[in-house]
Amino acid sequence: MEQRLQSILNKHYGKNLDTATDQQVYTALMLYTKEQLAAMPRTEGKRKLYYVSAEFLIGKLLSNNLINLGLFDEAKELLAKHGHELTAVEEAENEPSLGNGGLGRLAACFLDSIATLNLCGDGAGLNYHDGLFYQKLENNKQKEEKNPWITPESWLTDTGVRFTVPFGGFSLRSVMYDVGVPGYNGRRNSLHLFDVETVDESIIGDGISFDKSDIARNLTLFLYPDDSDEAGRLLRVYQQYFLVSSTAQLILKETRERGGSIEKLHESVAVQINDTHPTMIIPELIRLLTAEGMSMDDAIREVSLTCAYTNHTILAEALEKWPMDFMRKAVPQLVPIIEELDKRAKQVSDDPRVAILDDQDRVYMAHIDIHYGYSVNGVAALHTEILKESELRPFYELYPEKFNNKTNGITFRRWLLHCNQPLAAFIESLIGPGFKKDAAELEKLLAFQNDEEVLHQLRRIKTENKQALARYLKATQGVELNADSIFDIQVKRLHEYKRQQMNALYAIYKYLEIKAGKLPARPITMIFGAKAAPAYTIAKDIIHLILCLSQLIESDPQVSPYLKVVMVENYNVTKAEKLIPACDISEQISLASKEASGTGNMKFMLNGALTLGTRDGANVEIAQLVGEENIYSFGKSSEEVIRLYDEQAYSSAALYDGDEEIARLVDFIIDKKMIRIGDVESLCRLYKEIVSKDWFMTLLDVKEYIQKKEAMLADYEDELTWSRKTLVNIAKAGFFSSDRTIAEYNRDIWHL
Ligand SMILES: *Cc1c(COP(=O)(O)O)cnc(C)c1O
Repeated sequence: MEQRLQSILNKHYGKNLDTATDQQVYTALMLYTKEQLAAMPRTEGKRKLYYVSAEFLIGKLLSNNLINLGLFDEAKELLAKHGHELTAVEEAENEPSLGNGGLGRLAACFLDSIATLNLCGDGAGLNYHDGLFYQKLENNKQKEEKNPWITPESWLTDTGVRFTVPFGGFSLRSVMYDVGVPGYNGRRNSLHLFDVETVDESIIGDGISFDKSDIARNLTLFLYPDDSDEAGRLLRVYQQYFLVSSTAQLILKETRERGGSIEKLHESVAVQINDTHPTMIIPELIRLLTAEGMSMDDAIREVSLTCAYTNHTILAEALEKWPMDFMRKAVPQLVPIIEELDKRAKQVSDDPRVAILDDQDRVYMAHIDIHYGYSVNGVAALHTEILKESELRPFYELYPEKFNNKTNGITFRRWLLHCNQPLAAFIESLIGPGFKKDAAELEKLLAFQNDEEVLHQLRRIKTENKQALARYLKATQGVELNADSIFDIQVKRLHEYKRQQMNALYAIYKYLEIKAGKLPARPITMIFGAKAAPAYTIAKDIIHLILCLSQLIESDPQVSPYLKVVMVENYNVTKAEKLIPACDISEQISLASKEASGTGNMKFMLNGALTLGTRDGANVEIAQLVGEENIYSFGKSSEEVIRLYDEQAYSSAALYDGDEEIARLVDFIIDKKMIRIGDVESLCRLYKEIVSKDWFMTLLDVKEYIQKKEAMLADYEDELTWSRKTLVNIAKAGFFSSDRTIAEYNRDIWHL
């Protein structure tokens, strides 16, 4: 390693390890790691998986790749010998901005586990140059900026593979870049990222604005371009088709090269469709197979035996429906196929709820996936039950055999071994290294439940991690954190169903308590991190509320010693890796039934935070694993929430009018102190939304939530009891390893 690094540094910069900057050392180490990765043997298998996804939120790759290649310790020591810290060198890496939230991070964890389990499976996505936007916080508001991340030397390798993607009236060339995916002590797979040859970053104007109609130049600029107008929605269709057409062409090319038969495609290929964005791969594969001479019947049968679909949400807004007019304009070649698929589906059932085309000439993408895929899975036990019992019930009655659950997971390489090295080392000192390969071995920790020295050490490690986060936030955002305070953290995309606004109401509650002289036993640090979709007004209003509260509290000397509200700018994987190991209270407070699974909840649990959560998504499974005494659950059940929606029986106005305590908290949003700091229009809009609509039922659970959080804060003072709970959480987290999830996908769906 040393020799090779010296020679790379010499060649590129005329430097050596002692004279190079951290940035130069980063580039050299990245290039070296890339070489090592390329030299790993590829996975093999008769059937090959293509995991197709609009997002891959892969995070920085240097440390993760070094760990998986078994080179991490060597690299760290070598750099130290020459006066470089690996953590400082890592700072030089840009985080690829190829995802939005949990769905994209899941795809990234899955790639890691697929390679680690030696399964033959590649990812396929798009190479967005400016990714999701970069979030700046200015004047207590979110401002969107472009987020360029590609540098001349990067993990991307141009494969030389090119495809032509036909659209209505023109066609574009796709360029295939690969990012190597090393398994942990295993073999290697690839993430294929398709780019449009004619992409042009110079068309980006102010912030994230650009000409939405200039498809040849804009197609791979941004993930999820603003869809509040028609041009934006149409652009999403162009992007989706570009992804799936490139992937479908790659699949046929590789199948031939591997000696497989196109006529028996499903014997050589499995396609996992991650949410509805890649749905058009079904008609596209059918189109390509029939163009090869297969009959429509045969093509539909083969594709249906090849494709499987993962559902990630029951939110209506996220279940895509595209007007057929978009298809006629963007991808006219798919129109007859979609019409054929619709006709056949209507022969299977005349129930309009399962139709592909509705009476307004719209295509229901999920319905294509379910009729013409062989597997439909939800992402946590509760979510899959809700799909079967309510959201997709008519489909479940048609195809019960297709439905199955695959509870999400996370890769422990990134979310423990890399992000929390002190904890990983301590665990290894207690139970040996076996947990690194087999996460179930973490249960051996249960033997230390009554070992006071172990319990004290857990809190010491947590405090060190809190100090490290404090240093990081001081350096990056200039905020001061008190590492002796309780760190209460809610980091995830901003959405009303995740109920950051309920957490903000807690901040108001605590502020008013402190003003009234009721001081907490220990200071509390409330940390938020969240991006709001650029066109999602209420989400941005919630960010504004949090930032105004932060300023109000900070500037009040009576309150600031006891309470601090911090919003971390541009929450992403890099920030998550620093925040999660430092957390005491993990906020998982979505409205029951709405969070399909969550994976943040799993990361926090693994890192020794206790969950304050509703009985939603995978929180339910966390509670079953650790026992009710080791989690803080609250709120109305999913059955109750679903009933309230069905009967339209929820009224936030009634709760507001009938409860002075609730009204006091909500009214504070437009208190004159707040108006003085913030934007009247934004605060009033949010206030009105909560009192008159509150679609995600904040006021339903807010009182129980406050009570639970208060109980939790009190419990924190009993150090041994608290630490014992964290130990049980860590010990039981093994189930949430994505290695387990992927083994189940392979056993039940892929059969690779
Ligand atoms: C894990 C993760 C998420 C998903 O968090 P949830 O709490 O499950 O919504 C989102 N963003 C980043 C950067 C993550 O690492």
